[in-house]
Amino acid sequence: MSNLKEPSFRESVDLMFNRAVALMDLSPGLEEKIRVCNATYTVRFGVRLRGAIHTFTGYRSVHSEHMEPVKGGIRYSLGVNQDEVEALAALMTYKCALVEAPFGGSKGGLCIDPRQYEEHELELITRRFAYELAKRDLIHPSQNVPAPDMGTGEREMAWIADQYARMNTTDINARACVTGKPLNAGGIAGRVEATGRGVQYALQEFFRHPEDMAKAGLSGKLDGKTVIVQGLGNVGYHAAKFLSEEDGCKVIAVIERDGAIHDENGIDIEELRNWISRHDGVSGYPTGRYVKEGSKVLEEKCDILIPAALEGVINLSNAANVKAKLIIEAANGPITAGGDEILRKKGIVIIPDMYANAGGVTVSYFEWVKNLSHIRFGRMQRRQEESRHQLVVDELEKLSESLGKTWTLDPKFKEKYLKGAGELELVRSGLDDTMRTAYQSMREVWHERDDVTDLRTAAYLVSIAKVAASYRAKGL
Ligand code: NAD
Repeated sequence: MSNLKEPSFRESVDLMFNRAVALMDLSPGLEEKIRVCNATYTVRFGVRLRGAIHTFTGYRSVHSEHMEPVKGGIRYSLGVNQDEVEALAALMTYKCALVEAPFGGSKGGLCIDPRQYEEHELELITRRFAYELAKRDLIHPSQNVPAPDMGTGEREMAWIADQYARMNTTDINARACVTGKPLNAGGIAGRVEATGRGVQYALQEFFRHPEDMAKAGLSGKLDGKTVIVQGLGNVGYHAAKFLSEEDGCKVIAVIERDGAIHDENGIDIEELRNWISRHDGVSGYPTGRYVKEGSKVLEEKCDILIPAALEGVINLSNAANVKAKLIIEAANGPITAGGDEILRKKGIVIIPDMYANAGGVTVSYFEWVKNLSHIRFGRMQRRQEESRHQLVVDELEKLSESLGKTWTLDPKFKEKYLKGAGELELVRSGLDDTMRTAYQSMREVWHERDDVTDLRTAAYLVSIAKVAASYRAKGL
């Protein structure tokens, strides 16, 4: 079977890294220093549940400490292993460098299927895992700051933050030990939607460049483009929701664990999400066609394919059959190195994971800054901004009065103009700016260098150059 030749996730990341550094002028020593994972801590701990002791295995891997704290999510999944955690930690290093979030790369994971446990059991397990990591400074506001990933969310982050605070009662910055917390526990507006929102901003930016669209055989606007999404979890749900509700995209298929729903007329994302949460899957959904072998739908015709579930889903066995024009990697590592090569040869444009899903870490960065500054974004300026705008509106209305009211301000304009930016608006603005700037840095390399023919290599070149500069400046 062709799948046998498939490299592991970490080897895939290394292969992609190697392809990029071959085009750079780095000393072999520095190249190796950047590639390798600095440390991976494995912990096995017991928790008493249902009258017996259960042993769990968890990891926290630190890829690069050229900047500290290091940052990266904590994943709860039965598939978690050292190789995967190290690959994800490496991607975090490159991702943070690309979007200029001042962190090194890290990642953590616990081998567990969270759906098999009650909430109070998950709390016990999470607190114990957090304790094991915190006592080794693998959770720490200035050393290592986790965030949500597959299988974890606000709830787990709140438990982790509280566990750290209990262990460090005099640390005034304790809340900055983890991001992705609920708003009432030191979180930031817009963090839950951030990764999906970032995918939307990335696509909006891509569609601002006709030459880039042309490379994918696309033209026009996002409006009306057909989309297939794999995984309607945090990232996939928000991306699909915003693209369909705000940009006019038509989501024609959603692939989940138990199969896919295909509907050429477009799927109502909110309705399907509600169905999934009530029925634990897509099967039985009343509209569209149900496809039992969901992964086959990755091969259906569409303009934009959004793998937003797990790694390695487009690989040597199916890449040749993929018909999408553009793939945006909302998940981490959804395309293997072998799959990537096949897709590139077919002329399919890939917006790479390290850029495409960087919205999460970007807003995590804002949350960390908010926690350290102990003040909500916009609190000082908002009303002042509104009163300055009011002055302009009052002056214009006086003018209109003096001209016999021959014209008036549109009430909708007035409402929008007078509203000062709150935290959510500021977070979205900062995220949009980050996604645009990072895209431009990648596309510059993509278009200017003859030896760079894809966005992934361009992304690696930009980020490795930044990490290398940082190591050089430190004197290693
Ligand atoms: P999640 O747990 O919220 O959602 C994952 C979804 O994928 C779920 O709906 C699940 O049912 C579905 N799924 C699982 N296995 C599947 C399969 N075999 N086929 C189809 N669907 C399947 O996770 P998430 O936070 O949305 O993360 C998804 C991906 O995005 C991961 O690769 C993660 O590393 C990456 N990511 C997440 C964030 C974040 O902020 N949450 C940030 C950056 C990257």
